[in-house]
Amino acid sequence: MSAAPVSSHPTDLLGRPLRNLRVSVTDRCNLRCRYCMPEAEYVWLPRASILSFEEIDRLAGIFAGLGVSKVRLTGGEPLLRHDLGTLVALLSRHDAITDLALTTNGVLLARQADGLRAAGLRRVTVSLDTLRPERMQEFAGSARHADVVAGIDAARTAGFSSIKLNTVVIRGYNGDEVVDLLEFARGRGVEPRFIEYMDVGGATGWSMDQVVSQREILELVARRYGPVEPLPEAQWAPAERFALRDGTVFGVIASTTAPFCRTCDRGRLTADGTFLLCLYGEDGLDLRELLRGGATDGEISDRIAGVWRARADRGAEARAGLAERGILHRIESLRADPRREMHTRGG
Ligand code: SAM
Repeated sequence: MSAAPVSSHPTDLLGRPLRNLRVSVTDRCNLRCRYCMPEAEYVWLPRASILSFEEIDRLAGIFAGLGVSKVRLTGGEPLLRHDLGTLVALLSRHDAITDLALTTNGVLLARQADGLRAAGLRRVTVSLDTLRPERMQEFAGSARHADVVAGIDAARTAGFSSIKLNTVVIRGYNGDEVVDLLEFARGRGVEPRFIEYMDVGGATGWSMDQVVSQREILELVARRYGPVEPLPEAQWAPAERFALRDGTVFGVIASTTAPFCRTCDRGRLTADGTFLLCLYGEDGLDLRELLRGGATDGEISDRIAGVWRARADRGAEARAGLAERGILHRIESLRADPRREMHTRGG
């Protein structure tokens, strides 16, 4: 493996290190969740612009040299990317990357779980918003609910060190399933995480009244199980974790009502190689151009370090501070630049 360039670990203008990289491996998805991809038509990234596994691996080495120890593969739906295990195997060879994880909707996971685990993937997060197949059909346009459950079970038997469930809680859709989903997760020994509905690019039907806040989620849980206890916070983790009296642990990601920008150590790589400093960020650094233009690892590393050192983004906090909060981008603006889409920049 090529050695990563020697470089100091940059911190940004708010003292935040670059520790965590979310890599979108494709902008395509096999679901059409209303909070992420509600439109009938999308402008896809040109195929030739999508980074190859070798390009992603090279960048991963460079990022590792800058302090990244956690890499999460996401998308779009990452399991749509052909032969993802090959990328996992490449990434797992970087000693500095100690945490290699995947976020998936689970539809294709049952067939791939063993292979991904064998290739070196350590942790999996499966998005599961409802236990009711008819709701998934209506809300995500898919009849594959049973496949998602089979995917979760396959992940359990494949022996991942951690499996989490992600649920975006939306009033009028699944706000009445918080306790049922918690029971489902508890019964399978996996950790549920409830996510507030975010006004990210792609969420063109977002409105504040649909957001079920962390406070409400905790009230729903406490009403069923009694007092919940906050666990000590991991300094850089997005989820606040809580325990029930019987020790069951669950998380809440309160990005909308209680953003955690001050501890955000995450950079994002779009499927076409744009490095973004914030989920809400507009401008990015085009790493594909550098890769394909013949830049050395050292040159690419210097450019990444430079933009990180100048980073002052607090996108979610800025949104939360708005007097009136509506959708982030209208569909025309998403079509004009698909990199504004959540499914392109990676959730
Ligand atoms: N396709 C994969 C999946 O479904 O997990 C990975 C990509 S998806 C964009 C990553 C995560 O972003 C999912 O857990 C999804 O629920 C979450 N997400 C997408 N849009 C969101 C929104 N508007 N608010 C909160 N979470 C959102």
